[in-house]
Amino acid sequence: MATFGNLSDRLAETFKNLRTKGKLSAADVDGTVREIRRALLDADVALEVVKDFTGKVRERALGDEVSKALNPAQQVVKIVNEELVEILGGQQRRLEFAKKPPTIIMLAGLQGAGKTTLAGKLAKWLAKDGHTPILVAADLQRPNAVTQLEVVGAQAGVPVYAPQPGNGVGNPVTVARDGVKYAQQKMHDVVIVDTAGRLGVDAEMMKQAADIRKAIDPDEVLFVIDAMIGQDAVATARAFQDGVDFTGVVLSKLDGDARGGAALSVASITGRPIMFASTGESLDDFEPFHPDRMASRILD
Ligand code: GDP
Repeated sequence: MATFGNLSDRLAETFKNLRTKGKLSAADVDGTVREIRRALLDADVALEVVKDFTGKVRERALGDEVSKALNPAQQVVKIVNEELVEILGGQQRRLEFAKKPPTIIMLAGLQGAGKTTLAGKLAKWLAKDGHTPILVAADLQRPNAVTQLEVVGAQAGVPVYAPQPGNGVGNPVTVARDGVKYAQQKMHDVVIVDTAGRLGVDAEMMKQAADIRKAIDPDEVLFVIDAMIGQDAVATARAFQDGVDFTGVVLSKLDGDARGGAALSVASITGRPIMFASTGESLDDFEPFHPDRMASRILD
């Protein structure tokens, strides 16, 4: 994955040096941990996450599991892998469907994060799995957002509930609520509600998202974050966690060549799992996120 290419190379180099050693001294472990720390920081992983991560790796690497291992270097790599899986959220977390349909999924995030595109990706993916999703256009901020969602819906082959004149235009909370009602009437089993974002965190936007959340009581609130936004990822994620309290994270634009480490920090910092990864502009560039697979890719 392009985003983590550099991090991957740096870690591979570190482990290559380690492999030439037989038994590992405390100095070997410290040297390795220092290199891992630098590689993670250079990849933009948040400092507090790096500290926590390297602390755990160091403690384990100095312990019995390494000194008693037949191949100590390999054991250290295994530890790094396990701890990486942990910061990425541990177990894979799947979507939780409502016992009584429809399952309501709300999307939140900054403007340009990839919410509208994600709405189409998620709908297409769900439809392929036998679900009958509908999209609700509650992003009334951007002039083109409703049209864009309609285009995405057509590409995904799923219907879109869009504001009609006289039907609460201008009020995204009403549109979201009516969209959910419409979905119930038409027996759709999943409703995906697209909401407005701003270029930066903004109190009014956050209140609107919180109001929509309160009005539709979603089963999942997915916070979409652009892996390219670098260090801002952490502050943005915290603001959305406080403002709307999401249930899961979607990393978008993982196909980009920016250092994606900040986005990798989000699960660990917010305690919310990364559930999906978006890897391109096409609706098929999308996959459920598996922490273990991502860790293996990074350490490949
Ligand atoms: P929104 O403002 O959050 O609804 O963001 P959009 O869905 O409109 O996406 C903003 C831009 O990013 C659009 O040009 C999308 O085509 C693009 N985009 C969305 N997801 C991805 C992705 O995973 N990779 C890449 N390369 N571009 C993406």
